[in-house]
Amino acid sequence: MDFGLSDEQMLLRDTARSFVERVCPPEVAKDWDDTHTTPPELFSGMAELGWFGMPFPEALGGGGGDVVDLVVIAEELGRASLDVAMCYSGTLIGGLLLARWGSPGQQSGMLTDIMNGKARLAIGMSEPDAGSDAAALRTSAVPHDGGFLVNGQKMWCTGAGVPATTIATYVRTDRDAPKHQGLSLLLIDPTSDGVELRRIPTLARHILGTYEVFLRDVVVPSDALVGPRNGGWQVMLSGLEIERVLMCGGYVGAAQATFDEALAYSKAREQFGRPVGTFQAIAHDLADLQTEIDAARLLAYRAAWLLSQGRDCSREGAMAKLKCSETYVAAARLGMQILAGHGFATESVMSFRWRESIVATISAGTSQIQRNGIARSMGLRTY
Ligand SMILES: Cc1cc2nc3c(=O)[nH]c(=O)nc-3n(C[C@H](O)[C@H](O)[C@H](O)COP(=O)(O)OP(=O)(O)OC[C@H]3O[C@@H](n4cnc5c(N)ncnc54)[C@H](O)[C@@H]3O)c2cc1C
Repeated sequence: MDFGLSDEQMLLRDTARSFVERVCPPEVAKDWDDTHTTPPELFSGMAELGWFGMPFPEALGGGGGDVVDLVVIAEELGRASLDVAMCYSGTLIGGLLLARWGSPGQQSGMLTDIMNGKARLAIGMSEPDAGSDAAALRTSAVPHDGGFLVNGQKMWCTGAGVPATTIATYVRTDRDAPKHQGLSLLLIDPTSDGVELRRIPTLARHILGTYEVFLRDVVVPSDALVGPRNGGWQVMLSGLEIERVLMCGGYVGAAQATFDEALAYSKAREQFGRPVGTFQAIAHDLADLQTEIDAARLLAYRAAWLLSQGRDCSREGAMAKLKCSETYVAAARLGMQILAGHGFATESVMSFRWRESIVATISAGTSQIQRNGIARSMGLRTY
């Protein structure tokens, strides 16, 4: 049994760590968040390092790496912020879907552009009445001129307004089929006629932004279909599996950075003539938190390894997503308590960690939904 990273992965980690120090240390990530800035240098810097091509087969022009490599990078980017990690992972969730389900034309076209950093993908799954119950989506695509005519509304579409982004949009192509059948995935250009974006004011996630997407009589060509027509549910499940695992890297990195900041503060801040970290109440909380973070990291890499081996990781991915996201929330909450008044000041990085941690247990499937999945894998049907 080997719990270590390979030499190549350690090099990747060191490169990613120095990228964060140089381009997006936490104070800079917070400033981007505060000012709602989407910095081009963040994306171009990642592209120059070849990170967007990393997980794709060499036969498709990729770097021949795997999902574990992605999690190594995402963990380091998460140290800057979850949003920064999402700037990387978000596009690759869709890219990995194209590698698996895309047509040769989509792979030589859009996937190649993604690998070169020229194109990005957002995921349009959620709708006003379809959140956890994603298969309840109603956005419709009916046959039109050899392609589709799309009408409906998407919610919470992260990064939809970033330049050069295409929305991987789940639609209902057969209204008469049972709920989980009759779904399909279409690539929709948000600059097309009939598409309107509205940025949703949120607590954080301000680098990428999160959007409502209105689709009114949008004409979509037939070659925008990804995977089988009416087979979108299977495509969505495989996308969710990838998303859960990739997001874990960001959660663990963010939790570790939050811990490191709280620990450093507990050593520097003195009250009653001694560092506050030497009070047993604080020291034990920090000891518990690092233990939780290590457990979360192990679950994340187990799930990533299973996925990289092409093995089923639905249960392990749900466990990792649950633990890693909850641990980031716990880290930010403890960090706020240890920094106390200094954390409560909105100038503090810790206050930013706390704001952005809230979404970890909501997006990519809530904690309750992960628990449902884990319980189902034990033969317990939950409602
Ligand atoms: C910042 C942000 C970014 C996002 N990015 C994207 C994106 O890029 N693309 C996209 O498609 N979506 C995105 N989402 C949507 C996200 O996936 C949903 O918010 C999430 O799935 C939950 O749906 P909901 O918010 O509608 O909550 P609901 O589904 O309405 O749930 C409300 C509450 O009920 C609980 N609940 C619901 N069903 C069950 C059940 N069966 N058992 C137990 N509890 C249950 C939930 O856990 C939750 O606590 C994003 C959301 C946010 C906040």
